[in-house]
Formats: sequence, structure tokens, C-alpha cells
Amino acid sequence: MKSIGEALRSMLPAFEPLGSESLAVDSALDRHLAEDVPARVDAPPFDNSAMDGYAVRTGQTTEGTKSKVVGESRAGGGTPAPLAEDAVMRIFTGAVMPEGADAVVIQEDVDRDGEQIWFRKGASPRANIRFRGSDSKAGETLLGQGLRVGPGEIGLLVSQGIATVDVFRQPSVAIMTTGDELRELGEALDEGTIYNSNAHALAAQVRAAGCRPVVFPIVGDSEHELRGSLARALRHDVVLTSGGVSVGEHDHVRDAFESSGVKADFWKVAVKPGKPLSFGVGPGGRPVVGLPGNPISSMVTFEAFVRPCLRKMLGDPRPFRPPQSVRLTHPHRHSPRRPELARGKLTHGPDGWELTLHRLQGSGSLPSMVDVDALVLLPAGEAEFEPGRRLQAILLRDETGHIHPPFEA
Ligand code: AMP
Ligand code: MG
Repeated sequence: MKSIGEALRSMLPAFEPLGSESLAVDSALDRHLAEDVPARVDAPPFDNSAMDGYAVRTGQTTEGTKSKVVGESRAGGGTPAPLAEDAVMRIFTGAVMPEGADAVVIQEDVDRDGEQIWFRKGASPRANIRFRGSDSKAGETLLGQGLRVGPGEIGLLVSQGIATVDVFRQPSVAIMTTGDELRELGEALDEGTIYNSNAHALAAQVRAAGCRPVVFPIVGDSEHELRGSLARALRHDVVLTSGGVSVGEHDHVRDAFESSGVKADFWKVAVKPGKPLSFGVGPGGRPVVGLPGNPISSMVTFEAFVRPCLRKMLGDPRPFRPPQSVRLTHPHRHSPRRPELARGKLTHGPDGWELTLHRLQGSGSLPSMVDVDALVLLPAGEAEFEPGRRLQAILLRDETGHIHPPFEA
């Protein structure tokens, strides 16, 4: 049986980025750049004023001296005339600097009377000018390969006139759920049947991870049916199966993997929930992950094992959620035989994150995945955890909210 780390190290090499596609910048949010993006133009594209004020020759602006205002340069007003001798020019933020000026004096630092101004203080050369090319020069690397496209990257690309970017392709992820007891949402439930919640929960997890879920119809507990469905699922970039992966007489995933040419790497991982987790590589190098059927096991193992692999496939150079140190708010007991990924809610205490475990931790108890902030690792070999105990956790939400504003300043 593999450890969590061993299982991940076996899986990750099978999830390589898939090549690139070109997207309109506005559609590229949260995708990763497939190649470096060079700057097309100097930024800023021309010397311009950072403030509203007066364009001056600093040699002529000692404190108390007087000057005449000649002309104006405003944003969008094109290139102004050169700065006249012994004069200053009215200028506004974003406007082109006139030839001959070497600084901008902000309007708060002058007194004005008609066409005359007096300097309250002297100006230093280069003050309040945004120089052409000071942010980046044409041809320089603007954004590096692998970078995630966020609002800032979109703004920068558009500022350069760049309308499309090459990003790594989004994997399509086939989701196959198995079990004779499963019914689709909307169908009536007869005795002994349950709704196929895993298909929907997994699709949501795939989407939240940035990939495209393709949900297959429910597959009954037959090796033949499984094989047929698996053959179709293997046309996608990644295949996830749910259920039927243990060793019961009605668990056929193992046989179906074998007869479909999926080379199994492991069948079990030492983790609770989720021991019957399997992984193999199908024809064409397609990764196939057999998730356990229990709804919590399926979601927790997706989060711990599949999500980082999908992030890597999307070209994310940092595919893991960062570990966070948390303190337990209460005593807790668990079975020390396997490491456990328990679910809980976080609050922010004086000493950092504090974690309160959900009351229900069973692998079939769906409420245990409701309003979850974090998965926390309860290590094997220990049964009792005291309040205040420090543990390693991963935060499942990008924004784990807080009721107070973060800054008072
Ligand atoms: P299995 O892994 O097939 O032995 O299933 C383990 C448990 O999870 C059983 O109680 C199943 O009924 C349940 N289960 C399996 N697949 C699903 C699913 N797609 N949605 C909800 N529960 C499921
Ligand atoms: Mg089953």
C-alpha cells in the first residue's frame, strides 16, 4: 500500500500539459501561459506627466521665482509644442511631456495669478515624469511561461495591444460513476437505490480545478458495461471512475482496467478516507484514476490526489495548495492505523488559524463535506489529539472569509 506522498509521486508524471490554444485575453482568466509573452511596445509608450501641474525646465524653477504659463498638454491631446523659453506649460496626468521640459511641478506647489506662476519650492530634474520604457521595453519578456493569467496580467496584455494569448489547453475529464444502486437526478428512487451524487460533486470539483468535466451515464456493476464505457471515456484527456474499486464480488473496475489496457500502478493508498484509490495509465498515456464510491472518500481523494495532477496538466507550476499550520480548538480521537484527512472549519485566532473538526467524519456522511474550509492531516500512530495541538492543513477555499475588515489603517 502506498503512502500519500508515494501515490502522488506515481501519479504526477502522467499529467503533463497538453499543448496550447490561443484565447482572447478576456477568456484566458485563470489559465496558464504556454509561452513567454514579449512586450510589443515600450511602456509607457511616451514620456508623460504623472501629475496635474506644470512642465518646467528645472534650472529655471528655484523657490520664489516666477514664470509665464505658455500652452497646455492634456491626456489625449497629442504632442504639445516644445516648451517656450523662460516659460512653463500647463500639463495634466497622462499628457505627453513637451520637448525641453525635464520635470513636472505639481499644481499644489505653485501660486498662480492669471498667466503667471510662482514656485513655492524648487523642482528636481525628472520629478513626476513617467518615462518611455521605464516599465518595460519592446522585446523584453513581459510575462513568463507558466504564469497564471489574472486581472493584472489581462490589464498588462491589453495595455500592450495584445488581444490573444497562448495558454495551456484545458483537459477534458471523463467522469464515470458505477453502481447498480445509482439513479440520476430526477428519476424516482425505488427501494435500495440512491442518487448519483458523486457525478455532480466530482464535476463541480473538476470545474473548480479549472478543467472541463464530461459526465458519462451511470455504469452498472458489470465488467462488460464498464469496459464499453471506459473505451469511450479514454477518448478524453483524463478518466475518473467512481465506485467499484474495492475487492467485493460486485467491484469490477479492476478487471475493466485490465481488459481495457489500463496498466495499473497502485490499488490502495494508506489514507482515511479513501483507501481503495487506484491509478493507472491507459492507451496513449491517458491517466485513469479509480476513486472510491463513498461520497466523502471520492471528494477527499479528488482533492488530495487528483486536483494537484489536474493543476499540473493545466500548466500550473505550483499545483499544490500550500500547507498551513492550524491549531485544534478541541480534543479529538481517531483510529491511529492510517493517516486521516479530516474536514473542518477555520477561524482566525490571535495565534493564526484555528480548526474545529466537523462532528460527522464518516466516509459516507455527505454533511461532512458541507461548509468545509480545510482538510487537516491527523497522522497515523496517534489516537488522541489535545486542544491547541498544531496540525498541518490545506485550505480548500481560495478565500476563507473573515467577518471583520482586514485592515484598519
Ligand atoms: P463502492 O465503492 O462501489 O463499493 O461504493 C461504496 C459506497 O458508496 C456505497 O454505499 C455506494 O452506494 C456509494 N456510492 C458509490 N457510488 C456512488 C455515487 N456515484 N454517488 C453516491 N454514492 C455512491
Ligand atoms: Mg459499488
